[in-house]
Amino acid sequence: MSAHDATPTRHAQHGLYPEARTVQDFERNLAAVQARIEAACRRAGRDAAGVRLLPVSKTQPADCLRLAHSAGCRMLGENKVQEAHGKWQALQDLGDLQWSVIGHLQTNKAKLVARFASEFQALDSLRLAEALDRRLQAEGRSLDVFVQVNTSGEASKYGLAPEDAAAFIRALPAFPALRLRGLMTLALFSSDAERVRQCFVRLRLLRERLRQDQAAGLALDELSMGMSGDFEIAIEEGATVVRVGQAIFGARALPDSHYWPGEAGT
Ligand SMILES: *Cc1c(COP(=O)(O)O)cnc(C)c1O
Repeated sequence: MSAHDATPTRHAQHGLYPEARTVQDFERNLAAVQARIEAACRRAGRDAAGVRLLPVSKTQPADCLRLAHSAGCRMLGENKVQEAHGKWQALQDLGDLQWSVIGHLQTNKAKLVARFASEFQALDSLRLAEALDRRLQAEGRSLDVFVQVNTSGEASKYGLAPEDAAAFIRALPAFPALRLRGLMTLALFSSDAERVRQCFVRLRLLRERLRQDQAAGLALDELSMGMSGDFEIAIEEGATVVRVGQAIFGARALPDSHYWPGEAGT
């Protein structure tokens, strides 16, 4: 047993996340999340500067995103590309707001991502890598990418099987507009903290194996893992990016099964 085995998930509190309707609400929620990040880092003996908070604004109207920007958010995560693209268009006047697409992408929508996103966290096929690279080159842009790995073994989750990641990553240098930053995963959605932790451990161990794979010769610095209900556990296991929506924007009306079909929602 390590010192932090007892860190629980907070999925049961989903309905309790306060809605943010003013800049002050966002400042309060962001400060509360940042305090939780710092506490988790202290427990894990980590420097909080090594954990980036990515606020996730999916389902929220553009006006809310504007408030989040006023409260200091400079990059927002969205899991559906068309929704993200619409908000990008509506918020062009902000100038310094960047976009991270964190959800599964169909190859035929690569063009949209290439147009406006700075980061894409759900890369899981070479067909998609090829389409993104081609569209990015046409736009004269490049994109930070994370390879999504399925660490829960659930058939409903997108992402590569861990054993397929090494070959996949070795093929990525063929797509020069994609800058590989690291790995991303969604843990099992469960109140069983130990099983959630195992997903994060799997991603960390996979990165260690991949780093030893000299043929890849790539940095793989980032581990994007953890959301409102489980980011403290993810930080304890090495997360460098946490994707947090509800704890910043307020509880979503729809259950998570709406975004990730097949989830048990326990
Ligand atoms: C919605 C979402 C999150 C954030 O979940 P919250 O419960 O709102 O914190 C994280 N990652 C992905 C891929 C998402 O779609």
